[in-house]
Amino acid sequence: MPFPSSYRQIIVDGSPVGLHGLGEVFAALRAAGCKPGDAGLGAKIVADISRNNYIPVSARDLYAAAFEREYAAYLTQSESGDPGRKHGYGLWRGYPREAIPWFPTVAADLCNGCGVCLKLCSTHCLMPAEEGKVWVAEPLACVIGCSSCANVCKPKAITFPPRSMLEQYKQK
Ligand code: SF4
Ligand code: SF4
Repeated sequence: MPFPSSYRQIIVDGSPVGLHGLGEVFAALRAAGCKPGDAGLGAKIVADISRNNYIPVSARDLYAAAFEREYAAYLTQSESGDPGRKHGYGLWRGYPREAIPWFPTVAADLCNGCGVCLKLCSTHCLMPAEEGKVWVAEPLACVIGCSSCANVCKPKAITFPPRSMLEQYKQK
C-alpha cells in the first residue's frame, strides 16, 4: 500500500498533532457509509491511522475522541459541497511540497480571534480553534511564498520563516 499523501493537524487533548493519511481514512469511511456515533468508530480510525503514524497506547482513547469529532466535521464539510482540505500537495519548483517548511505560525497569546485572516484565505491552512482563536490546521495547504495573512494581522500574531529560505529550492 503506498504511503498516503494527505497530511493534516488535529487537536488531541488540547495540543496540535500532525498526521499522515487521515484524509484517505475519512474518505474510505464516508464511501462505506460510516456515520458519527457508529459503535467503535474512533477505535477503528485509531487502528487505521496507526499504520502510518505513531499513536501511544496510553493516548488511544484521546485520539479516538478527536478522530470522531474530526470525522463529523469532515462529513459536514463534504456534504456542504465544500471541496475541503487537499489530499496531496504536489510539487513546487520540482520539490515535493511536503519537503518545504513554508507555512504560518500563529502565536496564541497574540491572536485576538478577529477572524480577518480566515476571511482572507480559502486554503484551509488556518482554521478557527475551539477557544475562539486561530490555529494552523493544515500547514502544507499554505501557498508557498504567500504571507498575506501575516500582513493583515494587526496584533502580528502570524509569522513565517525568512523568505530567503526559499532561495535554496532552485528550479529542478
Ligand atoms: S488576523 Fe491575527 S489576530 Fe485576527 S484571527 Fe487571524 S491570527 Fe488571530
Ligand atoms: S500565507 Fe497565504 S495561503 Fe498561507 S495561510 Fe496565509 S493567506 Fe493563506
